[in-house]
Amino acid sequence: MGKRKKSSRKPTGPRKREPLENTFTCLFCHHDKSVTVRMDRKEGIGQLFCKVCDQRFQSKVNHLTEPIDIYSEWIDAADAAEREASSSRRPAASNKSAPAVSFGSDEE
Ligand SMILES: [Zn+2]
Repeated sequence: MGKRKKSSRKPTGPRKREPLENTFTCLFCHHDKSVTVRMDRKEGIGQLFCKVCDQRFQSKVNHLTEPIDIYSEWIDAADAAEREASSSRRPAASNKSAPAVSFGSDEE
């Protein structure tokens, strides 16, 4: 006999550390690691492109900028563009007045 331990989904082992990850998930086509960031610090330009749907983005970089920074800037830019596109029609309702919910007192 002997209880078998339920196999965990995560494989054990040393986790590979990649401090300078430069591939990301695409915001548009949602392919994993299809977005590559290239940094040209000499030129001060960071470029990002998706090899699947060919989305592109470019931003300025400095010596502290990392690929993830370009990626988050891209997210912000895409977000802003989307908001701009939908600004012509206002959202119907704002959730300013959410009903007050109190937890832990459902019995009197
Ligand atoms: Zn894409």
